[in-house]
Amino acid sequence: MSPPNVPLIDLSRLEPAVAQAVAAGIERVRDSGRYLMGDELAAFEAAFASLCGTSHCIGVANGTDALELALRALGCGPGDKVATVANAGMYATVAILAVGATPLYVDIDADTMTMSAVALRNTISPAVKAVVATHLYGRLADMEALAAAAGDAALVEDCAQAHGAICADVRAGAFGAIGCFSFYPTKNLGAMGDAGALTTNDPDLAAALRALRHYGWSDRFVAERAGGRNSRLDEIQAAVLSAKLPYLDAWNARRRQIAEIYRRELSGLDLSLPETEGDDHVVHLYVIRTPDRDALAKQLTAAGIGCAVHYPIADYHQTAVISTLGKLAPLAEVEQAVPEILTLPCHPWMTDEETTLVADTVRTALRAGDS
Ligand SMILES: *Cc1c(COP(=O)(O)O)cnc(C)c1O
Repeated sequence: MSPPNVPLIDLSRLEPAVAQAVAAGIERVRDSGRYLMGDELAAFEAAFASLCGTSHCIGVANGTDALELALRALGCGPGDKVATVANAGMYATVAILAVGATPLYVDIDADTMTMSAVALRNTISPAVKAVVATHLYGRLADMEALAAAAGDAALVEDCAQAHGAICADVRAGAFGAIGCFSFYPTKNLGAMGDAGALTTNDPDLAAALRALRHYGWSDRFVAERAGGRNSRLDEIQAAVLSAKLPYLDAWNARRRQIAEIYRRELSGLDLSLPETEGDDHVVHLYVIRTPDRDALAKQLTAAGIGCAVHYPIADYHQTAVISTLGKLAPLAEVEQAVPEILTLPCHPWMTDEETTLVADTVRTALRAGDS
């Protein structure tokens, strides 16, 4: 018998109706003869701002650029500190270092894996110009508590895993001064290549971001703002995203359904499962915690079940950080979490049968480990 095979994600399963809308969008762009900064970008920016409930959306080339340009627009640079978490894959750290600021790592809350407001309150100082809160794995960070703890520092949301997540009628990207999105293909809303966006309600920040993504121009060939560059979201990707956007909420609901199957099938084991019931969690990644993570990962892989670790190395342990800042003090909750986390397959095109098969394989592996 060949082993069962459940991939971590399979983007080729896009529903035929959506695939058709995507193809039509790509053809429309091809025939228009306009490939950058045209109607498709404007239409997607308007639609995405409307979804997020913000007055502005600015398309950029990718999510890391979004973070970097957000920090630039807020005036973060050398001498400034930017508070963020150390368990979210280095993206915020890369952006903070790129603008010449210094990351200040804040510990996480063990239950949610997002930034702890108590830890932020204890860490913050006047040198902290901005706080980047990551809605990790698709769960909104506690934005109300973080905003209170951030004081005068600007609150930036890293929404790259949380498109459409909602709490008390506010969507990801509408809580902070600026929301940063990635449309990397595997995200909850994914392009067919690189793409990203920023959201804000502040007209001055929106104008700054529009200039920064386009050479610092205020008008054609008029470079007004320093720090500008080229970071555009192209017309083809904008058309792809517009075709997919109407399906985002349904896809997020399906992700939560899969999470509920996991919760039902995996209860009573030596695992901690994420709380995914509410609309504030769009289950970008289904991440469990288990003491013997490496053994379980090995057994799942052997059984043809895709799994991964998001993320295996805390930012302050990365060579790129140590070589810039030296050795930093590790954070207690991050150190506890990193060796225990494991991501199971979860995406909108996964079947109930595949989900049950993953759960059965996890259960068998853990029971075998017990005996
Ligand atoms: C994917 C991701 C990014 C980076 O997005 P890119 O488009 O790959 O640059 C940033 N932050 C988080 C949390 C992400 O998951």
